Amino acid sequence: MSKVDDILKLKGVKPTSVRIIVLDYLLDQGKAQSLKDIESGLVRTERSSIFRTLKLFEQHKLIHSIDDGSGMTKYAVCADGCNCELKDLHFHFFCISCQKTYCLTDYPIPQINLPKNFKMLQANMVIKGLCETCNS
Ligand SMILES: [Zn+2]
Ligand SMILES: [Zn+2]
Repeated sequence: MSKVDDILKLKGVKPTSVRIIVLDYLLDQGKAQSLKDIESGLVRTERSSIFRTLKLFEQHKLIHSIDDGSGMTKYAVCADGCNCELKDLHFHFFCISCQKTYCLTDYPIPQINLPKNFKMLQANMVIKGLCETCNS
């Protein structure tokens, strides 16, 4: 079994051809992708089925979405053991030159003391700068 099949099975997602293609593509890229990025990478797959697949993957905690301030939601494959819980939230890095977004899974979002009776549900921590390629 390939890694793609393993992940789909683990997350309880039925492996259809579109799902396999989209997940394979996301894993291949190694960085977060917008719907537009995926669309241009998978020219033979319809936008609407890519979008439906992303939403399904998100529901099954297979990918997470990132708002990096670029105006386009990006999607990245969750790391092994990620359940998209608060403890799994991590920093992201957005390269202002090539506009690529990376998961910094080694850096979880720190716990902060919120005002009394406030509850944290999401966090959007984006570091902006230059990636290795753009910085050289
Ligand atoms: Zn860059
Ligand atoms: Zn991430």
